[in-house]
Amino acid sequence: MMIIMKSNATPQQTEAVIAKIKDMGLAVHLSQGVEATIIGAIGETHNIPTEHFEGLDGVDIVQRITQPYKLASRQFHPENTILPIDGFTVGGDEIAVIAGPCSVESRSQILETAQAVKEAGASALRGGVFKPRTSPYAFQGLGEEGLELLAEAREKTGLPIVVEIMSQVQLDVMLKYVDVFQVGARNMQNFNLLRAIGETRTAVLLKRGLSASIEELLMSAEYILAGGNTRVMLCERGIRTFETSTRNTTDINAIPVLKNLTHLPVILDPSHSTGHAAYVSAVARAAIAAGADGLIIEVHPDPAKAVSDGKQSLKPEAFAEMVNQVGQIAQIMGRRLAATQGNVQPLKQGWM
Ligand code: PEP
Ligand code: MN
Repeated sequence: MMIIMKSNATPQQTEAVIAKIKDMGLAVHLSQGVEATIIGAIGETHNIPTEHFEGLDGVDIVQRITQPYKLASRQFHPENTILPIDGFTVGGDEIAVIAGPCSVESRSQILETAQAVKEAGASALRGGVFKPRTSPYAFQGLGEEGLELLAEAREKTGLPIVVEIMSQVQLDVMLKYVDVFQVGARNMQNFNLLRAIGETRTAVLLKRGLSASIEELLMSAEYILAGGNTRVMLCERGIRTFETSTRNTTDINAIPVLKNLTHLPVILDPSHSTGHAAYVSAVARAAIAAGADGLIIEVHPDPAKAVSDGKQSLKPEAFAEMVNQVGQIAQIMGRRLAATQGNVQPLKQGWM
């Protein structure tokens, strides 16, 4: 339930409403926007008559949030959420470009890729160290050694790092290193993991499950938000359909649908949604034209030798060209590529 205060409501009147919500055993979510103060009463509210709040001083409108996801819903939070990550933002005017290899493989591979994507205009570095592989015999990732290499790449380039977490047992070690947790498609409904991440205040890139509906994605985001971690961005990464010419089918519709239903930033992963390097740039351009807030792209210095997802990885030159094209589409959309600032340090000669 959403209680919208009158524009001239006093802080005491707002406090009185909050106290009443708490007395009823409900959680409170306060959103003080420029235009209005909105108090969310979160919990089992369906049996509570709106009249309970309508008569209180300073209350303007009491509305039920009809969607099953409350904190994620745009009804509840009409303004876009703009997430500050180290050096850039996601969800505002800037278009974030997260790029890097599917897996961290070696020191030279990650440092070379980090430098290349930074030079091409990326805003953050991705790299998997705990890999969700279909086969238990396939490369599973470098683990903490990979996190150390990513931390070194961040130090050298200034790019914040985005890393997939597969289980809550990895939480403590990941917290020491990462700027953004990636929750992969296979873990979108790992509710214990979502709850554990909800307890942190680290930003999260939550990917849509292989066959998950948009509503299920939003319900998963709700798990994280309900824990008090509001730093969530959503990622469309393609869904399973009958089509076999691409690895998955990019649900381009998901971008405007999500932008309509939620205030959370929405990004697209055309690497996993197409599965072919040749199609990545076209779909990346389409995503920005459709209103996405950013992209996550797999880049590898030598895709033929990549231990995972080489087929869909762009070479650094192709990535640079893609960033250039995306920048032009961003401009048409009245937006711009996120410039990396933050703790950028000058690159040293021969640091590889
Ligand atoms: C990845 O980003 O490398 C990955 C495994 O993605 P997804 O969870 O979307 O399959
Ligand atoms: Mn991958």
